[in-house]
Amino acid sequence: MIHDTIAAIATPLGEGSIAVIRVSGQDAIPNVEQVFKSRTRLTEAATHTVHYGFIQDPESLEKVDEVLVTVMRAPRSFTMEDVVEIGCHGGLVSVKKVLDLLLSKGIRLAEPGEFTKRAFLNGRIDLSQAEAVIDLIRSKSDRAYKIAMKQAEGSLSQQIKQLRQQLVELMAHIEVNIDYPEHDVEEMTSAFIVDKSREAIAKIDELLKTAEQGKIIREGIVTAIVGRPNVGKSSLLNALAQENRAIVTDIPGTTRDVIEEYVTINGIPLKLLDTAGIRETSDVVEQIGVEKSRSALSDADLILLVLNAGEELNDDELQLLEQLKDRQVIVIVNKIDLPRKLDIGRLSSFLDEERIVMMSVQENRGMEELEKAISAIFFSGRLESNDATYVSNVRHIHLLKEAKASLREAMMAAEQFVPIDMIQIDVRNSWEQLGEIIGDSVGESLIDQIFSQFCLGK
Ligand code: GDP
Ligand code: ZN
Repeated sequence: MIHDTIAAIATPLGEGSIAVIRVSGQDAIPNVEQVFKSRTRLTEAATHTVHYGFIQDPESLEKVDEVLVTVMRAPRSFTMEDVVEIGCHGGLVSVKKVLDLLLSKGIRLAEPGEFTKRAFLNGRIDLSQAEAVIDLIRSKSDRAYKIAMKQAEGSLSQQIKQLRQQLVELMAHIEVNIDYPEHDVEEMTSAFIVDKSREAIAKIDELLKTAEQGKIIREGIVTAIVGRPNVGKSSLLNALAQENRAIVTDIPGTTRDVIEEYVTINGIPLKLLDTAGIRETSDVVEQIGVEKSRSALSDADLILLVLNAGEELNDDELQLLEQLKDRQVIVIVNKIDLPRKLDIGRLSSFLDEERIVMMSVQENRGMEELEKAISAIFFSGRLESNDATYVSNVRHIHLLKEAKASLREAMMAAEQFVPIDMIQIDVRNSWEQLGEIIGDSVGESLIDQIFSQFCLGK
């Protein structure tokens, strides 16, 4: 049981016409009442009701703000505690004043993530749902938002629970055999363990397969813009960024050797990399730059190769086209405003026509076709199925891999007729590792670490 009452501003700081202060805890209702001037008494208010009034300093009688106060009684609230939400009208200054007033009445300022932590500790949500709330707050695109939303609703938890249930059944089966060991039964049990482990491993593999896509959706499709100098790579990057700049751009670690921009095209988040010109060079310093852009090229999920319509294909470009044959690549023939020298027929021998986009970045032509081509690649594939469960959290991926490794141990041991009480340990490990994903067997410190990632007020 948690005893103290906490408060924080729940809406983003900054200018806004309304701000919400959230208060949660045993004394939330009487504490707020001390500073609330209204015809209704909050302590007598029914749950889920809204009350009009003023926040007033009880000593100086100064009216701080005109407010709407919502009362939600335990356990029907996000934290499962008594919750009061104060909708303030004023700007930042008066919101801050309201908060200060509350803090002077025995309410404590909430730590980042503390509301969600309470929801977790009070049994309202499990750990993977709590982490999904973090992802919701941070998600960079609609698509990532939807996946986080799904996870918050518990679709991953559901699948993990099913898997764990299967393992519990397996453990129970093994347990019976430990208690009543007979040779032929033991042989059958070994076969059973192999079967059940294989089944569970297949399920884990399915979840892990989605991890790669989950990562793409969360962090953006890594898109390298390549081509020889002066074809218009930087112009293209700027044009794309201007039209589609992603909402969130506070990603640390941007290197200056390769320029990065986050954009969202038709809901697909792209991490665009403008690389230095890729070509052979003898200059050592320049070689480092080229080395970097080559590795950007090999790491990319999608490659935009920019060519100049006003020049013929050169050897470097032909070599690059050959090299990129098996990759996801879109060729941009830029500068179509110039007299045409580039041989499109020759280009078509390297790739399908829908992968070739004619553009003039300078005259703002072809941008829509480019966006369509990008969407086509990623919506034709598996990324489209919105109702799949995507595993996108690094901690979850790690734990799934560990759980899988434990099951493989169990399976191999069973195949070699290792005594089954030894095998039981591996199955149990796997069950615990899966449990850590949903917070069933995690230590206090991990919980603190996870919740400290939240913003204040969540
Ligand atoms: P980068 O070296 O590949 O990054 O190329 P830049 O983006 O720096 O562009 C090189 C030059 O080409 C600049 O002077 C641009 O203004 C020009 N440029 C870019 N796009 C076009 C285009 O569509 N048509 C024409 N005529 N010039 C362009
Ligand atoms: Zn450039």
